[in-house]
Amino acid sequence: MAATVITRFPPSPTGFLHIGGARTALFNWLFAKANGGNMVLRIEDTDRERSTQEAVDAIIDGMQWLGLDWQGEPVSQALRADRHIEIANQLLESGNAYRCYCSKEELAKMREKAKAEGRPMGYDGTWRDRDESEAPEGIDPVIRFKSAKDGETVVDDQVQGKVVFQNKDLDDLIILRSDGSPTYNLSVVVDDHDMGVTHILRGVDHLTNAARQSQIYKALGWDVPVMAHIPLIHGADGAKLSKRHGAMGVDAYRAMGYLPEAMRNYLARLGWSHGDDEIFSTEQAIEWFGFDAIGKSPARFDFAKLENLNGHYIRNMDIDDLFNEFIKALPYLPENESFLANLNDETKAHIRFALPHLRDRAKNLVELMKGAAFICSKHPLQMDAKALKILKDDARAILADLFKVLSEVKDWSANELEETVKAYAEEKQLKLGKVAQPMRAALTGTNVSPGIFDVLEVLGRKESLDRIEAQAKN
Ligand code: GLU
Repeated sequence: MAATVITRFPPSPTGFLHIGGARTALFNWLFAKANGGNMVLRIEDTDRERSTQEAVDAIIDGMQWLGLDWQGEPVSQALRADRHIEIANQLLESGNAYRCYCSKEELAKMREKAKAEGRPMGYDGTWRDRDESEAPEGIDPVIRFKSAKDGETVVDDQVQGKVVFQNKDLDDLIILRSDGSPTYNLSVVVDDHDMGVTHILRGVDHLTNAARQSQIYKALGWDVPVMAHIPLIHGADGAKLSKRHGAMGVDAYRAMGYLPEAMRNYLARLGWSHGDDEIFSTEQAIEWFGFDAIGKSPARFDFAKLENLNGHYIRNMDIDDLFNEFIKALPYLPENESFLANLNDETKAHIRFALPHLRDRAKNLVELMKGAAFICSKHPLQMDAKALKILKDDARAILADLFKVLSEVKDWSANELEETVKAYAEEKQLKLGKVAQPMRAALTGTNVSPGIFDVLEVLGRKESLDRIEAQAKN
């Protein structure tokens, strides 16, 4: 029986969870789920100067927001240093590694020489076969991996195909620095092995590391995990992804009002496809996901597409789910202070009631919040420039009439209110718009809103009449 599939996501906590990392995490998660396995999370915090707890928290928060879970506790790579050192020593004992006593000056000379001769800049193997008895005084050695000198190393990649590396191009890399700290290629092999990782799916920028790591696995007599190196993400213009294109932390997307389900859908399509399907659920993605449909060319990150997809989710998802997502997202949206200050059980109920009308106009949750602002506004309601333009004296006089007429309404429902207002307009021989626009301004402080009778119903009798009275003038 094949081993249970274990994938891994191993971010370095030197910044937020950016969009490329989120896509890698999603692909690993999808692949694990698609194969009845699990993903593990390893925090590669060995660079003590650049790693911060804040970044660890942001990564975990970003993963949780995206709904990507992992098995067990996150593993700190730094805390596993003793194990990495143990394996380095094991490689030393088995003759697969050696101590190198080159000084900084010698290494600099080596590089210069290689440059002058037009050779690759790697280490030239000075200490590879030299006896330790020749070791100079006062130099703390590094430990280097004895990489194969001749022949080739083949990475049988699930996305890139068979990638052949000439061993002469892979120099003897340092696995333990002179201060005794392990380096990335060693730590990653030991951790992936110890954590039972069966499949490695990561950016194609790690392809050379894959060759080096394969050699270390073999030297240790361990099975090399299945590897899949995925193309990087480019901007919509084809250039390398930068901030301008959307290379921000996922937290920035939450703050822009994107839904996690829309993000998952969008990120899944960045480099992977299922026919022409653009919109699919996470369950479908799990069902369909596999290496075979990962493309070889860089995916393009397209803001407009993401925005459209998000709008689709807002309009079509289950209304209670949308409501819950909206309430959850509110603390992260910009300029939310007055909205949050007026959020209570009553206003929440009003928002839920108005949501079917509000969502048609919103492509993201920020727009949804703006649309719902009339519900969560403080007295007296602020009128924006467009509302003030509508509220000329004649409009205010209409509001004074409406205040009286609406005060008489018995059943405060959209239908009843509509009939009353229509009857009033007819009696005064006014077009409905002439009556509705001032009402909209008075009730919402602006000139766009859900249907005005729904607004009246949502706000309720007292709130509606208070707002109309505040703008009315005889
Ligand atoms: N910490 C590495 C990175 O963030 C992980 C590379 C790997 O997947 O092996 O690039």
